[in-house]
Parts: sequence; structure tokens; C-alpha cells
Amino acid sequence: MELFSDLKLNPKILKAVKDAGYEKPTPIQEKAIPAALDGKDVLGIAQTGTGKTASFTLPMINLLSRGRARARMPRSLVLCPTRELAAQVAENFDIYAKNLKLSKALLIGGVSFKEQDVLIDKGVDVLIATPGRLIDHFERGKLLLTGVQVMVVDEADRMLDMGFIPDIERIFKLTPFTRQTLFFSATMAPEIERITNTFLSAPVRVEIARQATASESIKQSVVMFTPKRKDREASEKRQLLRHLIDLEGKNCTNAIVFCNRKTDVDICSKSLNKYGYQAAPIHGDLDQTKRTETLENFREGDLRILVASDVAARGLDIPSVSHVFNFDVPIHAEDYVHRIGRTGRAGREGTAIMICNTRDRKNFSNVEALLQKEIPRSNLYDDTSSVHKIENETEHLKTKKISSGEGSNQNRKNKSKNTKNYQKNEESNSTLGLGEHTPDFLSQSFNDRLVS
Ligand code: ADP
Ligand code: MG
Repeated sequence: MELFSDLKLNPKILKAVKDAGYEKPTPIQEKAIPAALDGKDVLGIAQTGTGKTASFTLPMINLLSRGRARARMPRSLVLCPTRELAAQVAENFDIYAKNLKLSKALLIGGVSFKEQDVLIDKGVDVLIATPGRLIDHFERGKLLLTGVQVMVVDEADRMLDMGFIPDIERIFKLTPFTRQTLFFSATMAPEIERITNTFLSAPVRVEIARQATASESIKQSVVMFTPKRKDREASEKRQLLRHLIDLEGKNCTNAIVFCNRKTDVDICSKSLNKYGYQAAPIHGDLDQTKRTETLENFREGDLRILVASDVAARGLDIPSVSHVFNFDVPIHAEDYVHRIGRTGRAGREGTAIMICNTRDRKNFSNVEALLQKEIPRSNLYDDTSSVHKIENETEHLKTKKISSGEGSNQNRKNKSKNTKNYQKNEESNSTLGLGEHTPDFLSQSFNDRLVS
């Protein structure tokens, strides 16, 4: 099979797909769509960026194009782990269903219950939800799931990481056992295997070889980092990050920086801004409006660097990221695959650079074990010379900043507003243990901080 028109989709859907600029189905679409159109359960295993959304949205819309919705009884249900992903599925749904009159409701945090209640009361064809919010609605007695003909679970491995499996099981049980189930995951953890064995019936298993597509076009490397001074580890690491970004220069048109912890996402983002790099954070504790706005800016190219946690970035549809920087080695090895999957999409070249701190070595070997190959060590650094090189780079940056007029009053004002808390931390951090024994390069960078 070669073309979308070979798939037995409603012509109105084919037209919308064509308008979206898609020529050929991706490998997962090619296999999952015909099976789903046949009414079979589908278990799709493929990494981020392989086109999973259309593999379930298109057959779903096809099915929904016949018949109509009844009050309070959605005809189909899509479960997503995060609000962003749910919103993204909704967007895709609108694109592919634009030539059909189908209605949808979005049950996610940050969207009012009231408005969604009105929609549900009228009857919706598709309900797109995060598990927690769906259960909230259900418990308020406004929603019946007994009319669900197709249920989709997207990004199941992330659901597992986020502790949603019990919710998913509960939701499965609220829908008719005659429903069709389309289930997608990038990896198959034992817990996910169990769920699919319980709730899918004779599924067609579509597995797209891990890595094969994305990683071929991703240039991966790792920098082994050993802090010079334990008490300055965090700021040394941030310096290293800036250095790595600088080294990539113009090639780095836009980037996602991944941190393991939300607090580091915030700190990292503030720090980058302080040094004149345009960055914004995205993680689960930020309110929905802010997250949407940041994401929009990033998509539009108005923001160069997105600093993200795994949960917030999961599956985000950002078409062309030139670089992924792993500020930390992910705790779960599979997250590495997801993270670097943000770059090198659809055959484009991508670069993924990771910092591996001394205490990350164990996690790092897990990543390599999962990949079943070595990630090339960056030969620009070694444990003994890294900090020195970075310091030189900081000097260089300082000069650059002054000469490019970065220190204008307006700029300084904005900057100090953004980074007040951060500076407080940074300063108290850096005075720790400093005294007459301060090595030259450290006091130099301390002065530098006072300047900027
Ligand atoms: P996944 O859910 O597997 O991470 P998505 O469904 O978000 O992947 O798709 C990734 C990107 O590829 C999106 O920008 C989407 O619009 C695009 N895309 C999906 N299917 C096709 C296709 N058949 N041809 C071209 N681009 C596609
Ligand atoms: Mg997806």
C-alpha cells in the first residue's frame, strides 16, 4: 500500500488529509488504519513522531461519519496523559474532520466544567480527555460512557509513569465491552502488557521498530561531566549547557532542554534568560494558559529554547526542533528515546546532546543498554578540562554581550525582574565556601555574575 487513497476512508476525510499536506501514510498509519477500519482492536507500538494520532483519529472519524450523537452519551473517547496532548489530539481531530459535521468536547484541567457540560448534554461524537478529569465529570453524574463505540488510549506508557493505570482500568469498565479499542504506546512495560491483555480483544499488533526511523537522522552525543567543585556543581552544569548551545551556534535554530525535575526546569530557564538566551519553562505546575502560550510561541519560532520536564513535553507536536539537550540523564531509560524523538523528525537532521553528571552514570548505562549501542562521547571535553574551557567561553560571552548592547537599561530592568529569585539563589550558592582560597577562575565567574 502506498497512498492514503488506497485506504478505505471516506472521501471527505481523504480530502482533509490531502489539504493537511500528507502524501503517504506513515508506517504505523499504513498498518493501523486498515485494521481499525475493519473494526478490530489495535495495539500500536511506535515511538514519538511516527504519526500515531492520525492512525487512530482517521478511522475513528470514519466510523463517526455515520450515525449521530445522543445526549450525554459520547460515541467515542480518547484518553491522553496530559492536557497539552489532549488539546493536540483535539486540534488534529478538527483538521481531519473539517468536512464533516462532528462535535467534540475536551475534558481537561483548565477548561471550565460548565461549558463542557453544555456540550455533553447536547451530545458529542468524540470526547477527548485526561483520565482524572473524565472521572471527575463522570462522578458528577453528567456523563454516560455506555454509548462509547471506540475508545482510544494514547501514550499509555506515559499514563503508567503518571500513575493513571487504575483510572484507565476504571474507565475501561465503564464503557461497553463491545467497544472497539485502539491502544498506543511507545514502549511495552509489563503493566501495559497486562492492561492490553485484559481489555483488548484479539488485537492486531502493529509494531514499528524502535528507533529505526528517528534515530538514523539524529546525531547523538554525551558529555561526561565531573564538577570541579561540589558546592558549585549546579552552576557549573548550567555553564556547560550554555557552552554546548554556543558550540552548536547557528545550527541550533530551536531547542528543547530536558531536566528531570520541575525545579530545575525553572532554574535552568531563568538562568538561560539571565545570560541572554531566549528560553521559557514548561512543566505540569504552570497554569494552562501559560503553557499554551509558551508552546505557541515556540511553535511559531518566537521562542528559541523550551526548557521542559518529561511529562509536559510528552508527545508535543513541535514540527522541527533542531536540537535536544538533555540537561540530566533521564531516570527512566525509555524517556531518552522520547526526548530525542523531538528532533530529527520526518527524516530531518537532528542533534541530541546529553550531559552526564557523575551520579548519572548508572542511569546512563541503562540508556545505552536500552538502545543496545553506545552513545558517542563528545571529545571536546573530558573530566579534567571541561570547567576550564567553559570559563574561557564565559569570558567570551561577556564581551559579546557588552558589544551587542545587551546591557541597555531596558534590558537590565526586564532581566532583573525575571531573575530576581534566581539570582538570590545563585549568589548565596556561590558565596558558599568562597574566601581567600577561591581559585582564580571561580572568582572571575563570580564577578561575571555580578556584572550581568
Ligand atoms: P506521534 O503521536 O506518533 O508522536 P504525531 O501523530 O503527533 O506523532 O505526528 C507527528 C507529526 O507528523 C505531526 O506534525 C503530524 O502532523 C505529522 N504527520 C503525521 N502523519 C503524517 C503523514 N502521513 N505525512 C506527513 N506528516 C505526517
Ligand atoms: Mg502522539
